[in-house]
Amino acid sequence: MCNILKVQWTIIPRNAPQPRMVCSGCGGYTAFKSSDKLRLNANGKKLDAWLIYKCIHCDKTWNRTLFERRSVRSIDPETLEALQTNDPDWIRGHAFNVDALKAKSQHVEEFAEVDIHRKIICRPEKSEFVEILLSIPVQTSLRLDRLLAAELNISRSRLQMLYETGLLQVDSQQNGALRRPPKHGLRTVLDLSSELDRDSILQSACGGNG
Ligand SMILES: [Zn+2]
Repeated sequence: MCNILKVQWTIIPRNAPQPRMVCSGCGGYTAFKSSDKLRLNANGKKLDAWLIYKCIHCDKTWNRTLFERRSVRSIDPETLEALQTNDPDWIRGHAFNVDALKAKSQHVEEFAEVDIHRKIICRPEKSEFVEILLSIPVQTSLRLDRLLAAELNISRSRLQMLYETGLLQVDSQQNGALRRPPKHGLRTVLDLSSELDRDSILQSACGGNG
């Protein structure tokens, strides 16, 4: 039996980050969008792999290096299989890996829009706490405070206050975790015992009025 509301939110970002650069096709300083397609080049026992981006105006391509002259034997079988089959989940993981993209491109535009799938793990009749587990299959650019405030339907200043007074606990070693995009597996616990609108916040955590 449980005595606190426990929910899992799976965060699905809508748009992959886009590098911006001068396009050699149309000459504009413009954004490039992932085509979600790979280009491979095998040279003896060495393999190159690129993720292909396209200029949003003229379709000119830009290849983002994923591997360069990597020995085939050093690549694990799952990755080789993903490369050979154009595995969409594997490609998506790379397309959303904003840190790796920033290593290849100076200017990267990030998008914060996400879809959230909620799963109720445990819902007691009455609860004064809510525990939220975040499942994040691919990197998101949405900050934790914006995510929680929007989905719990409370203001960010109130959320900040709850955090400062220790009523909102965030299991993270990172400094300023509230202002950063959350990582997979992050757990937060919110103590609502002295909040008058507790029930509506609990309801929001479960996904609105339903
Ligand atoms: Zn162009």
